[in-house]
Amino acid sequence: MKSLKWLATASVLALSVCAAPAFADVSIEDIVNDAKTTNDVVTAGLGGQAQRYSPLKSVNKDNVGGLVPAWAMSLGGEKMRGQESQPLVKDGVMYITGSYSRIWAIDVKTGRELWQYDHRLPEGILPCCDVVNRGAALVGKTVVFGTLDAKLVSLDQKTGKVVWTKEIDDFKGGYSYTASPLIVPSKAHGPLIVTGVSGGEFGIVGRVEARKAETGDLVWSRPTIEGHVGTLNGKPSTMTGDKVNASWPGDLWKTGGGATWLGGTYDSDTNLIFMGTGNPAPWNSHMRPGDNKWSCSRIALDPETGDIKWGYQTTPNDGWDFDGVNEVVAFDADGKKLAATADRNGFFYVLDRTNGKYVNATPFVEKITWAKEIGKDGRPVYNADNRPGDPKGSKDGKKGTEVFAIPSFLGGKNQQPMAYSPDTKLFYVPANEWGMNIHNEPVTYKKGAAYLGAGFTIKPTFEDHIGALKAIDPATGKIVWQNNNKAPLWGGVLTTGGGLVFYGTPEGELKAVDDATGKELWSFNTGSGVVAPPITWEQDGEQMVTVISGWGGAVPLWGGEVAKTVANLNQGGMVWTFKLPKKVAAK
Ligand code: CA
Ligand code: CA
Repeated sequence: MKSLKWLATASVLALSVCAAPAFADVSIEDIVNDAKTTNDVVTAGLGGQAQRYSPLKSVNKDNVGGLVPAWAMSLGGEKMRGQESQPLVKDGVMYITGSYSRIWAIDVKTGRELWQYDHRLPEGILPCCDVVNRGAALVGKTVVFGTLDAKLVSLDQKTGKVVWTKEIDDFKGGYSYTASPLIVPSKAHGPLIVTGVSGGEFGIVGRVEARKAETGDLVWSRPTIEGHVGTLNGKPSTMTGDKVNASWPGDLWKTGGGATWLGGTYDSDTNLIFMGTGNPAPWNSHMRPGDNKWSCSRIALDPETGDIKWGYQTTPNDGWDFDGVNEVVAFDADGKKLAATADRNGFFYVLDRTNGKYVNATPFVEKITWAKEIGKDGRPVYNADNRPGDPKGSKDGKKGTEVFAIPSFLGGKNQQPMAYSPDTKLFYVPANEWGMNIHNEPVTYKKGAAYLGAGFTIKPTFEDHIGALKAIDPATGKIVWQNNNKAPLWGGVLTTGGGLVFYGTPEGELKAVDDATGKELWSFNTGSGVVAPPITWEQDGEQMVTVISGWGGAVPLWGGEVAKTVANLNQGGMVWTFKLPKKVAAK
């Protein structure tokens, strides 16, 4: 009898093993615990805290040199533009997004496509910085992604069929969507899909929104600019900021920018959503004296209500397009709950993530001109003569004094996410060394038209390199090592328990380097530029590494003199997955 019972159990087990891929539900527990579970990657950032660290170590310093491709898949078509997407993996299926608002499900064992969904884009979309997408989100039985015409699409994981579509906003008004949506638990509303908006160069007002994952129905909305009122359950909730016009003159707050275009992170320790906000609009800072809250800031939101729990402004009264959107990475040190962020403005900040209090900030790029330092109060100490001049003060009133400012508006770091290793206690920041000639011009707001009031040309700071991967000690801000790269770095970083740091270059290499020294241990030419972050996970006992290759993004479009130096790089669109040959892995 005993043996029969055992047989029955065994046959059920065998059946479930054969029935792959399983398309299991992705629960809130899966999402909150993502950093610890090595057999899947169900969040952007490999965990809500976005450390991009995997404890996996079967690929390590000793054997990474043996890494070889397991498979590659082309994103095909005539739509080979910048590929900035981080893949997700669950139960043997990989979900990736591509240029022009496309999404795929792929069998991770073979690299074969299971389904593809191409979003039908209308004429007249207004993406500022290439037709990119940075990845999808998994929740329940669905996979969700945003589109260049500012829609949010929920698809069935198994079939790729649309479950629901919601309009975030009117693309004709300058709105678009490129970030990976964030999934956040809520006691009152169940799993929420949290998104921002793109369009900060068009005078839109940034906001953060939460929708019910199951239906896409809006739960709350939180504008990022002081004076605007949020919504909760279909009713007005609270105003952003203390008082209308407290840090904005006149009516400029009404078209004040602060786009939340890079999405956010969720820290389950503090139950806070961290979002970054972009430049105030227009770029000409003389039109809007004051701090212009909460532009160029990091804000922490309550998942239940969307209320702002704390805000920290990196560039008050920004005059250089130093969007404060870069990711907030939660980490613990000396028993404190901290967060780090590497800003476009060239400073690397550490904050107390429970209350947003300033801890320290140090330059992570060289020769910064716009500020002398970040003061003890957490505010920049400006170099007054490095602020682009007021066109009103010029001879013909059409062009203010031009300055050469470092960093350029593409930033000491841009969309490419950094990584943190709890083993080395270092951050790995994909930085860029460049500056810009910039001047202000008169401008008036017109719906759907560029709202800058500035002219600019980017130039490299050094002759031999722009990109530099930097290992930074968050306790001191000291740069422990750095690897220079000729072209600007525009892909993200991954770090592992195997003592490795993976990152890609526009020249096309995916590299693995020693996390303690930066020494290159492995490199593979993917055939086109890498502007996306790599991931790693374990599949049937083997450690896999995946990155999407495909040159593009903001640099070739906005890079000024730098764009000329990268004009020879070829576009592409290919998912590459690597592993160790069984013989190497067994050693
Ligand atoms: Ca995981
Ligand atoms: Ca901007």
